Amino acid sequence: MASSLIPASMQSKLMGLSSRNLSNATLTYLNLDLLKNVVFLFFVLRYTRKTFDSLRGYGIIGSIKRVFAVIRLWVYYLFLRAPGVRGQVDKQVTTAITKLEEKMVRRGPGITTYLTLPKEGWTSEQIRAELTQLAGMEHAKWEEGRVSGAVYHGGEDLSKLQTEAIGTFAVSNPLHPDVFPGIRKMESEIVAMVLSLFHGPSDGAGVTTSGGTESILMACLAARQKGRAERGITEPEMVVPETVHAAFFKAGNYFGIKVHQVPCPAPDYKVHIPSVRRLINRNTVLIVGSAPNFPHGIVDDIPALSRLAVKYKIPLHVDCCLGSFVIAFLKKAGFPSPYEEEGGFDFRQPGVTSISVDTHKYGFAPKGNSVLLYRNRSYRNHQYFIFPEWTGGVYASPSIAGSRSGALIAGCWVSLMTIGEAGYVASCHQIMGAAKQFETAIREDPILSANLEVIGNPEVSVVAFASKNFGIDTYDIADAMSAKGWHLNALQDPPAIHVAFTRPTALAVEKLQTELAEVVSAELAKAEERQRQGKSYANKRGDTAALYGVAGSLPDKSIVSRLAEGFLDALYKP
Ligand SMILES: *Cc1c(COP(=O)(O)O)cnc(C)c1O
Repeated sequence: MASSLIPASMQSKLMGLSSRNLSNATLTYLNLDLLKNVVFLFFVLRYTRKTFDSLRGYGIIGSIKRVFAVIRLWVYYLFLRAPGVRGQVDKQVTTAITKLEEKMVRRGPGITTYLTLPKEGWTSEQIRAELTQLAGMEHAKWEEGRVSGAVYHGGEDLSKLQTEAIGTFAVSNPLHPDVFPGIRKMESEIVAMVLSLFHGPSDGAGVTTSGGTESILMACLAARQKGRAERGITEPEMVVPETVHAAFFKAGNYFGIKVHQVPCPAPDYKVHIPSVRRLINRNTVLIVGSAPNFPHGIVDDIPALSRLAVKYKIPLHVDCCLGSFVIAFLKKAGFPSPYEEEGGFDFRQPGVTSISVDTHKYGFAPKGNSVLLYRNRSYRNHQYFIFPEWTGGVYASPSIAGSRSGALIAGCWVSLMTIGEAGYVASCHQIMGAAKQFETAIREDPILSANLEVIGNPEVSVVAFASKNFGIDTYDIADAMSAKGWHLNALQDPPAIHVAFTRPTALAVEKLQTELAEVVSAELAKAEERQRQGKSYANKRGDTAALYGVAGSLPDKSIVSRLAEGFLDALYKP
């Protein structure tokens, strides 16, 4: 049967083995040789299978492009390290990092840096004075609604109650439910409340985590463990939209799961379903959709992903971290809810096995709160860590952390109970109203619509846009908005900017539209001036344009990575 697959040299040895008159030495030699051939055959089969998977998953042209990309990357890698180039690159990276540190690390008169413990503890007056000064350091004006996303504020009254709850439970730790029974009760109620918002089945389950990233990490880990336990998968893979949150790549990196990215092409920017299907193979432990994604606020085709998940019997995670309490209340607030006619985007779809929901985003809980929901307990059990043999006693914890903060759970519970359904419907109304108003302005305002375009059809609270005028660079718009005190998010591939509306930004939407129109007019004037003078570009570019425009256009991302490393280092500079 498979004899044609066996190399001729080995066939003769296999046949030789059956002849009786062989000396022991020959036999040993033959056995070793046979072993060598078997190992060789194993590798040939393995790589044939991998090549086949890649051809099937990415197509012939796609696979050739992938090989070409690797070669291109390698050539740039060599180029950046060539004598002369390398020194130049190093110098520019160092200058950029120094500038970054000067901006981040505040020094100067009136600022004292503390590098050792005070000999005697400070008095409460000293502490209060210092805290006031720290809170008052010059910062981006989120209070005026000029920061996209970042601060998901639920109002002053809620803040006071959260502070009280945090104070009451400051010493608590959910690792010890016997010592803090109130925390255990609140945690289980948070999970139940969020489950019901996303139409969890009666045997649905969940956990609270420290944030969206941990929820996503845990969903990926549980899927990997399930694949290993039930299907013997040792080389796990997952298939995700290219617009999915970075936390999925972090999960791939931490947990050794290969991540296949699926294009989300224009005009709708949703994950391309036939490509997802082609990339599913026997090693697939998870497929993913976002509702909505971070970059463009677009909801992937969850019903279609669910059909694939059911057909191939693989778990499907829906990332509702951002959508959270806005997407859950769209219908009640009078906005179209994604895929309502097809059964929705949550557990109503039979293929959906887990959903991440950030209570610390539109749930307005204090930062450090998120919920991960599962279709039933059997999925959740794969995320547990249980170590019965520990010398410290039988150990069991649900997620990454050991000890956790019960105070944050209390802060979350207080938020859900204070705002309640009516409150979330009202905040959804306010936030969506602002997002729709902004989207309409970009589509209809004479100056904005002539030069900008909205990315896809945003259905939730994020609106992404880009320049459609070849003379205006999107990143120059981002830099000009920064100069006016706005902190919007710059996106790449394609270059774009987004605004994630929150309660503070919703109040500032008029100002946002007016100042964006001013910026676009100014950039238009500059572009016309450049054209008149026959110049391509002024040599002075802003930070965003420098990061994404120049460094970002190189295929080798090592320069961008070094800048990012410098940024992380600067976080820890006293
Ligand atoms: C914010 C966000 C997350 C999680 O981010 P955290 O910062 O870890 O809370 C995940 N997915 C999307 C789409 C998000 O916007």
